[in-house]
Amino acid sequence: LKENNARHLWHPMAHPADSLAHPPEIIVGGEGVSITDVDGRTVVDGVGGLWNVNLGYSCQPVKDAISEQLDRLPYYSIFRGTTNDLVIELSYMLREFFAPDGLSRAFFTSGGSDGVEIALRLARQYHKVRGEAGRVKFLSLKKGYHGTHTLGASVNGNPNFRTQYEPLMPGCHHIPSPYTYRNPFGETDPEKLAQLCLAALEDEIKFQDSSTIAAMIMEPVLGAGGVIPPHESFMPGVREICSKHGILLIADEVITAYGRTGAWSGSRRFGVQPDMAVTAKAITNGYFPFGAVMISDAISEVFENDTSGKATIGSGYTYSGHPVGAAAAIACLKETERLNVKDNAAKRGEQLHAGLKQLGETYDLIGDVRGGYGLMCALELVSDRDTKAPIDKASISTVQKTAYDAGAMVRVSGNNIILSPPLILSEDDVNTILTALDKGLGAV
Ligand code: PMP
Repeated sequence: LKENNARHLWHPMAHPADSLAHPPEIIVGGEGVSITDVDGRTVVDGVGGLWNVNLGYSCQPVKDAISEQLDRLPYYSIFRGTTNDLVIELSYMLREFFAPDGLSRAFFTSGGSDGVEIALRLARQYHKVRGEAGRVKFLSLKKGYHGTHTLGASVNGNPNFRTQYEPLMPGCHHIPSPYTYRNPFGETDPEKLAQLCLAALEDEIKFQDSSTIAAMIMEPVLGAGGVIPPHESFMPGVREICSKHGILLIADEVITAYGRTGAWSGSRRFGVQPDMAVTAKAITNGYFPFGAVMISDAISEVFENDTSGKATIGSGYTYSGHPVGAAAAIACLKETERLNVKDNAAKRGEQLHAGLKQLGETYDLIGDVRGGYGLMCALELVSDRDTKAPIDKASISTVQKTAYDAGAMVRVSGNNIILSPPLILSEDDVNTILTALDKGLGAV
């Protein structure tokens, strides 16, 4: 297996040479909150798959739902008016998580990148239907990540996910993120920084001319960019500015939904109702590739009332609303509610964040400790606290590898160690992650 991994797999998000050096090599099993590799080592999954295995690896109700659905109807998706029974039930359930009173329609996709693509397209189409065809540009945050497709890559803030593929979509502009550790204003106070970023957003809108902008897309809490927890006032401020200028607000909730931030959605965590919300990942807990875009009633009405034909949807996927995915999602959401994972995420998130802060007092190579919104935490590693020079790749790899050998899988993203464990983990599991990280950091 190891030889064929090296020879035949093209690893996403990695240099072909680097990817082979990273642990863990090959995962062959998963149970509860732990994963087991091909060498028989079992570790706590501090990454929760890829921020998606919220309920752990042995969720019996989901397995049962998938197997029953496979027997009953293995395929019939949503296309040109035809659908299956399950997605109708699911769309109703999803409202409860995102906005019980306002995001009533769901457009189903096969994952997060697909959802981002659909949301951005719908935003442009919405303005066209309303006779504002000049609204074509998109705004996003410099630390934002919105997937792999061409529109998503165009709004991705991190140049590492963009520049290889340029020229991408013109008219995508990136706003400073509320990132206290590094920002162009030299501001460390989260509230003041939020205000400065909001002012930068206003400036960009003015510079671009609001009548040319279709939508702003943002993660309520930035994830892949290094877990950047914003001040509480940031997302409501963005909402207010977007509404003032007729710009749609798309919440990319691919990571932040279903309890991850200690609330049922990231937007709800901040008391914001977006115009659209993109969801994927934990919607099926990893059991099936699946996603959705939740769409506001106001947008739906504009499309419904169109008589020009401009509102006909020209996008859809073969697997939009796959019945097995929908069955998995319904079972997942029921379990998510039954176990009330958002409360455990909040409690364990506090414990994890506090433990990471303690590590921050011990190790000089920790430049910044981030958390505070459920089970999304990060350590930013530097080689020098004064200059904030990022730690080198080999050293952060040693932290990860040693932590893995000591019992916990953690994720490396640039010079950050990212933690997003399953939301069902226990106090002991958090301690295992912290002890493993302590050993990893100690090794450097
Ligand atoms: N948006 C965000 C915020 C994400 O974190 C991701 C995946 N990490 C995506 C979109 C893309 O989702 P997918 O990998 O399911 O296409």
